[in-house]
Amino acid sequence: MLDLLLPPQCLTCDAPVEAPGRFCAPCFRITGFVTEPACARCGVPFAVAAQGGPHGVCPACQERPPEFFRARAALRYDAQARRVVLPFKHGDRVEIAAALAPLMARAGAALLAEADVLVPVPLHRSRLFTRRYNQAALLAGALARLARLPLLPDALIRHRATASLGERGVAARAAEVAGAPGGPDRAAGAAGG
Ligand SMILES: [Zn+2]
Ligand SMILES: [Zn+2]
Repeated sequence: MLDLLLPPQCLTCDAPVEAPGRFCAPCFRITGFVTEPACARCGVPFAVAAQGGPHGVCPACQERPPEFFRARAALRYDAQARRVVLPFKHGDRVEIAAALAPLMARAGAALLAEADVLVPVPLHRSRLFTRRYNQAALLAGALARLARLPLLPDALIRHRATASLGERGVAARAAEVAGAPGGPDRAAGAAGG
């Protein structure tokens, strides 16, 4: 009913689009979708495949392999990506999860094909109280439906509240989340924010 009155708008501007959750053509062109070639480990995109060293791994991962085996990102975190992510994360625009999930499914297709379950990075209960929803859980739910995988929303518990990561550098973010989430016995770990 609302669509009849107000045609769906582009995710990042107010241009009309065919269906909710789409980019208009000019916004699509400036959106930094992460594509191959990319680091086999952390997923950072390469300009050319030759930038990856042995096994297609980036220099940073060769020097200091990360705690995780593999990560993939759908979008480069630039000004355009922030127009989608920030309203989703802090602006109560929960419907954006349905628009982002297909992008994640495409970027993470190889990982999802081997996955048994999906587990979102948890929010500390104090953060959940102020933000009212866990954006990672919303994304994981939408992704689980697309990928037909079971979702375990409560498999990890964040024992320690971490500061907001938005304006921090990579090192500060890594330090802040180190050891923050864990399973009931703190054996499992994950990073995010
Ligand atoms: Zn647009
Ligand atoms: Zn890497």
